[in-house]
Amino acid sequence: MGEALPRFEEILDLVASYHPECDEDLLRHAYVYSAMAHRGQVRVSGEPYLVHPLEVARILAEMHLDEVAIAAGLLHDLLEDTFVTEDELEAQFGVQITSIVKALTKITTMEQSYAAREAAQAENVRRMLLASVEDVRVILVKLADRLHNMRTLRVLPEANRRRIARETLEIYAPIAHRLGIGRIKAELEDLAFAHSNPQEHAQLVEQLQQREAAARALIEEIREMLGRVLEENGIKAEIRGRIKHLYSIWAKLKRQGISLDRVYDFLAFRIVVATVQQCYGVLGLIHQLWHPVPGRIKDYIAMPKPNAYQSLHTSVMGPQGQPFEVQIRTFDMDQIAESGIAAHWMYKTGRAVEAEQERANWLRGLVDGQQENPRDFLDSLKLDLYPEEVYTFSPKGEVFAFPRGATAIDFAYRVHTEVGHRCVGVRINGRLVPLRTHLENGDIVEIMTSPTQVPSRDWLDIAATARAKNKIRAWFNRGEKEQAVELGQRLLERECRRLRIPVKRLRDASQLTKMAREHGFAKGDDFLAAVGMGRLGARDVLLPLSKRPDELHPPPSKASPAVVTESVVTVKGQRDLLTFRARCCNPLPGDDICGYITRGRGVAIHTTRCHNLRRLQAAGDRLVKVEWGPTEGGTYAVPLNVSFDDRPGMLAAITQAVTAQEANIRSCQMTTRDGRRGAADLIVDIRGREHLGQVFGALRQLAGVTSVASGPSAFSRRSQF
Ligand code: MN
Repeated sequence: MGEALPRFEEILDLVASYHPECDEDLLRHAYVYSAMAHRGQVRVSGEPYLVHPLEVARILAEMHLDEVAIAAGLLHDLLEDTFVTEDELEAQFGVQITSIVKALTKITTMEQSYAAREAAQAENVRRMLLASVEDVRVILVKLADRLHNMRTLRVLPEANRRRIARETLEIYAPIAHRLGIGRIKAELEDLAFAHSNPQEHAQLVEQLQQREAAARALIEEIREMLGRVLEENGIKAEIRGRIKHLYSIWAKLKRQGISLDRVYDFLAFRIVVATVQQCYGVLGLIHQLWHPVPGRIKDYIAMPKPNAYQSLHTSVMGPQGQPFEVQIRTFDMDQIAESGIAAHWMYKTGRAVEAEQERANWLRGLVDGQQENPRDFLDSLKLDLYPEEVYTFSPKGEVFAFPRGATAIDFAYRVHTEVGHRCVGVRINGRLVPLRTHLENGDIVEIMTSPTQVPSRDWLDIAATARAKNKIRAWFNRGEKEQAVELGQRLLERECRRLRIPVKRLRDASQLTKMAREHGFAKGDDFLAAVGMGRLGARDVLLPLSKRPDELHPPPSKASPAVVTESVVTVKGQRDLLTFRARCCNPLPGDDICGYITRGRGVAIHTTRCHNLRRLQAAGDRLVKVEWGPTEGGTYAVPLNVSFDDRPGMLAAITQAVTAQEANIRSCQMTTRDGRRGAADLIVDIRGREHLGQVFGALRQLAGVTSVASGPSAFSRRSQF
């Protein structure tokens, strides 16, 4: 243990500095246990193996993590590389630490052929993300493990170095970025860059060295100016100037295809202040001092990145006309920017809980629906993990963040899987554009859908996010039959809505089976598939069930004496058919009439002049010829409405006039308004058209009556008493 113990004591001191009450016994126990188990093992470099878990623990302590994470770091290789068993580990350290170590052990890098290795790698990442959804410390320990391995990578053969470096760039650095752990991301990138691309790395280092002295002088000059202005304005701030990390400079050179001579903004400044208000104040002061570069001001305070990063960014033209970048943030924001999700596991911090939740959601989103080909998964992971984001809005103002390169299809699938599947077009900022259109910052995106739309294989090329690709693939993987079933269901539902048939009839299994049998199918799904494949027309299937024309004949209700069911009409050629007089036209003996066969409520009798009947003629085969039966002694309830100028005794005058015509009054309701105008709704037994004419005539002769009509008045319907 020779040189290891002092290292461990350093780590303990470091933990005690931010977490004075930490469980030192637990850490000592983990250290001693790890030292015993790894005894005699050496790394490729010839160092004792124990150095590795110790350095991993140190990285975790530098992230200010709790003792569980640090102990897990000390123990992380035990199950994989020593004879210690899960049971022993659990007996010594409990379930929590053991489950973190177990999860880490499942994430192993295998020495295999390239193709097999890639598949295994994807599977590893998936396991890691899954485990991290349960306990984010798994991924934090894994990142610390990877960081120390990268720091000591030079001892490995070149082929291995390149492979591990590439894996770091493609997977671990983006994960660190997405989790908001800026510090680890930058170091992983620089180390991976050095090993995966040694020539270009060396070249860039040399170029930067040539400019370093000048850059340092410039940083000092700018720092002084900034410090002076902030002091004059009474703002206490921490000002840091730095040369950006190598990989980000190199990535920018690559992206923009320019040489280092033109990349002046490899200088970056960070101003950390106490309050959000001061952040905006500082931004204003900087813009007074130097001209801002248009289009480079970004407000991640108002609109945090998905990894919870918050800051104001601006680029300005510096004292010698060279642009440089400034980030302005509060101390809290700075901690989140450096530590990201780890902030949640830091000792003494309740912050970032929401942000942690968001990241957990993001992890879940990556892992969900990943049953198929691990290679597809890795591809989509790489895409999703690429850092740059664009922010877009729904028409309702919801914000959706996407990786740069995402298209309208991605947006549709983000809103909802079904919106994605049915998406037919998109309006961006009010303009119709193709689905493959790339999303830009600030776009307002409105997706148009159609119930008959289905995903197209082209969409796999258009979609850029893992989520959309997974959903599209899942749709195709379900097979033609299922697609046809789904489409059939949709087509029928749409037709139901048109014909106003309750959609639940399609969703009820027994009703669906019944419908299927009527069309010669044993199962509901076969029937739906036939519709989906176009062998049966949705409209043809549903039209016979349509209730639409019947809506004109609501079932008679007791509260509505205007409709009386009576079988005094005979239907030609048929007997014993229930008939009733339609309330729209109230046919009476003497009127020319026509019957309409309703569903389940008998034959509705309309006058041939009725405008509703004309609409019903569209349903041709359900109209039947009818004629009046024997009328002796028969009467029909007819609603009458009488309007009048109100005067005392009006009700008596009306009832007298009606009964004088030998018509029985079944009911009568009076309504008056302002004490001047009134209306009476009566139900009167009438023998026929001629008799009705006599009653009408008698009422019209009454002094003060302004109108007589059959049917209730709208006036009285509003205010009955
Ligand atoms: Mn390790």
